[in-house]
Amino acid sequence: MFRLPSFDLIRISSIIALSASMIIGSIALRGVLDQNQRAGASLVELQLFELATAAATAITKERRPLELALGEEPGEAVATTNELRAARGDTDRALDRFRAGVEATTLRDSVNFKFLTALLRDERRGADALLALPVKDRQISLQLRVARGMSSISETFVPFVDKTAQRVIQADENLAGRVNVARLLGALYESATRLPSEVMPALKWSEVIPPEAVMTSMRVQQRILALWDVGVSQLEFGPSSPRLREAHEEIRSVYFGKGFPFLVRAIETYSRRPLNSTEHAKRISEVYAPTTLPILRMRNLYVDAMMNEAVEIQKSTLIQMKLVVSLAVLILVMTATAAWVLYRQMLRPLFGVRDQILALCERRPIRRDRYDGSVLAVKSLYNALETLEARDRQRMVLEEERAVLAEKLRTLSETDELTALPNRRGLFVRLEKFAGGGRNFTAILGDIDHFKVVNDTHGHGAGDEVLAAFSSLLRRRANADVIAARYGGEEFAIVLRSERAEDALAFAEELREEIEGLVVETSAGPIRITASFGLANEAGPVASWQTLFSVADKALYEAKAAGRNRVRLSNATIAGLAKPTAEPKTARSRIAAA
Ligand code: GH3
Ligand code: MG
Ligand code: MG
Repeated sequence: MFRLPSFDLIRISSIIALSASMIIGSIALRGVLDQNQRAGASLVELQLFELATAAATAITKERRPLELALGEEPGEAVATTNELRAARGDTDRALDRFRAGVEATTLRDSVNFKFLTALLRDERRGADALLALPVKDRQISLQLRVARGMSSISETFVPFVDKTAQRVIQADENLAGRVNVARLLGALYESATRLPSEVMPALKWSEVIPPEAVMTSMRVQQRILALWDVGVSQLEFGPSSPRLREAHEEIRSVYFGKGFPFLVRAIETYSRRPLNSTEHAKRISEVYAPTTLPILRMRNLYVDAMMNEAVEIQKSTLIQMKLVVSLAVLILVMTATAAWVLYRQMLRPLFGVRDQILALCERRPIRRDRYDGSVLAVKSLYNALETLEARDRQRMVLEEERAVLAEKLRTLSETDELTALPNRRGLFVRLEKFAGGGRNFTAILGDIDHFKVVNDTHGHGAGDEVLAAFSSLLRRRANADVIAARYGGEEFAIVLRSERAEDALAFAEELREEIEGLVVETSAGPIRITASFGLANEAGPVASWQTLFSVADKALYEAKAAGRNRVRLSNATIAGLAKPTAEPKTARSRIAAA
């Protein structure tokens, strides 16, 4: 079975389409997988960043109960001391959680917790020593040292937070902007809570705030304003983050609208004259402290928003992944189905048509497949095939009829109408198949004697009847080894195939005798005839029948010349055969040898 070139083209196209869909699917899947992995990684780093900022917040928050306790006598400060203890507990737990998070990462080696905890322990010990003293012994310089000690811990912790922020940005650089805002908010909160710690000791001691503390507080104020102006106040929030916008607005109105100017004015006022009561100092602190909380809230909201986003991205990439896989499978299935349909609806039927056309051409029996597909072009091809087949069948019938006619014509052209014997042409056609090697062939020419007289005496019709009777005699003798034919007019040819030449001679003699004894009952009355026979013999294969017949004709002529009603065998043609005796054994026989 040869292949149509278009088949290969279609097969190649199907393979290309299938592989293309697989490649596109895997590329898309790869992209989504990468995105999913990135979202997962940034989520892990964000969690660590959140632990760091929570620890930083706890350290900052530890400052306030310490400040309060420093204003109270050791005996009275039970509630505040408990608060301080709780705050320290919070810090320790937050640091532990952060440490546990760090232990699981490569940050383990670069973050020095030992130093930090040692520093924290020392600062707390110093603070506790001061708290053990009566209030009057807690000099401002000592209190400032404690406050600055706590601030220095916050500063020591800043690189820790920065390192986690760096890891978030490494995991997903799109988060860089928001991580920085979260860090700015952390720094703002730290500075906002640090601002009163410089001036509170003097206020609580009802002393003018020392110029050095005023200077430090001014620097902190500058830093607060810079952080706000540079980083936070510029932020814009889309409609999708109303809580963040609210928190941002709260910082503006609560901290920068009330808390910050309130404290700045107090610092200004009490840098010139002392505050008259400790209670008033306490109230300043109580008014100011809560105004810093919106900063913290916004920072927490910011980190939470980043975490939620990472979770959402991870979720959505998971959905995308499923979508891509299903799409790729769908495309694969569709391409395979299209190829299958193409094969079923077009290629296979086309091969069917081809086989049927080949069968038609080679006149083999054709399988009459019907096309049950829906491609119109192929359907019309099948219809055309049916027309072709119908025409071919018609032509076959015509051809058969023509063959029958041709056969009839051939038979007619080879048969004599009057005698129903083969005519001369029929004789030679038969002789072509008759001539085999290794046997004797004898051509006998028989001619009715004085037939003209028969015609003249009894009429041409009676002559015909005589010819018919003569012929039926010959026909009876015809068999596989004997061919009888009308040679022309009243002359007949008999060709014999025999083992011995004598058999032919006997055959002719027998025939002559039979004719001699024959009475033909014609319409014009009984007619008797005789016939003369000339024989020529040749051992097969016969070189030329024409020659053999002409030799036989000579013998016939001689038989006629010798007096008719006799058989004459040509001497010339018999090679290696026993010559028959010159004269017949019986008186009736007139066989003569030339
Ligand atoms: P011979 O003994 O020498 O053969 O004498 P003959 O008269 O038979 O020979 P000739 O050749 O002189 O005459 C043959 C005759 O045969 C002449 C012709 O009219 C007649 N003949 C030939 N064909 C037919 C035929 O089909 N029907 C009839 N009735 N006569 C025929
Ligand atoms: Mg004659
Ligand atoms: Mg004749």
